[in-house]
Amino acid sequence: MIGPSSTIGIIGGGQLGRMLAIAAAQLGYKCHIFDPGGHPPAADVAAYLTSAPFDDLAALDKFRDAVDVATYEFENLPVEPLARLGEKLRPGARSLAIAQDRATEKEFIERCGARVAPWRAVASLDDVHAATAELGTPIVLKTRRYGYDGKGQAWIGAEGDAETAWAAIGEEPAVAETGVDFVAEFSVILARWADGRHVFWDSPQNEHRDGILRRSTVPCTDVAAAQIADAREAALAIAEALGHVGVLTVEYFASPGGPLVNEIAPRVHNSGHWTIEGAVTSQFEQHIRAICDLPPGVTGLMRGRAIMDNLIGAEVERWPELVAERGAHVHLYGKDEARPGRKMGHVTRIRR
Ligand code: AMP
Repeated sequence: MIGPSSTIGIIGGGQLGRMLAIAAAQLGYKCHIFDPGGHPPAADVAAYLTSAPFDDLAALDKFRDAVDVATYEFENLPVEPLARLGEKLRPGARSLAIAQDRATEKEFIERCGARVAPWRAVASLDDVHAATAELGTPIVLKTRRYGYDGKGQAWIGAEGDAETAWAAIGEEPAVAETGVDFVAEFSVILARWADGRHVFWDSPQNEHRDGILRRSTVPCTDVAAAQIADAREAALAIAEALGHVGVLTVEYFASPGGPLVNEIAPRVHNSGHWTIEGAVTSQFEQHIRAICDLPPGVTGLMRGRAIMDNLIGAEVERWPELVAERGAHVHLYGKDEARPGRKMGHVTRIRR
């Protein structure tokens, strides 16, 4: 057990790192953020900051020696340098390596017995044509690496042709994935301990616009709720196969034929932000508990319904009105520039 007053290293200094650091501080830990930026959002609430590129080996060695355990808050990190953190890294580099390449990820998910939408790996325009012929349209091309929040994605079908989509994703190695006519989207969020203990939260139903999460609502509507048991079983199989320690999120499409995995995130997730006020133990506290090997906290929904809305780009300018709203829990991430599509904060409302 890694006890309070130890130092937790967090690789990545975005809003997820910030909320992890706040939860860690509540339990008496100090946090050390490792991020290439000079003033990442998480550094405002952490004891220490290393400002260095993610592949700076000397900086990583110093960081390893300065922390008692280390974790990461996003998956677009070079995996090899992180091997230097050895056993201190939780979850391990395997969760990261699988989740950061969409083709590897889909193969892995299928090997775990879960289902994904029909897909092909593509590396050329010819491959894209072949995939379109085999799978039919609509199809979405997603770059294998470095895509998030709808970036690195382009549709083929009603809105565009193969050439345009292939050019739009920068002619990068990609997956071609059948467009799913889903009835809802939801996620399974679980935390797993090194000895196999695990807990689930209630699943949020998720609404996206332009590939970005806008709203998560708990509990799900009936149509998604009917698929949660199968989805949990698959998510746990994935967590076990990864040997995952900490929070793991699996995003699903509720399709007419059952749950299809969209993607996995080996970390706390935007669709779990409601747990800060809505659940007895938040995803952030639970992640800290799991990586420090403290006992699991209770995950239940405290009461009623939780609705979490992201504040994207200029929407953050609504903060005066939101902080004045009775019962609205406002979270601002301390980012200086409200660029379009940038997650600036979120607000959670708990309704009876
Ligand atoms: P992703 O970046 O893969 O999580 O995709 C972001 C969002 O785009 C998803 O949450 C869906 O709303 C939409 N999307 C992605 N892939 C598909 C698909 N194969 N079929 C339908 N919608 C999709």
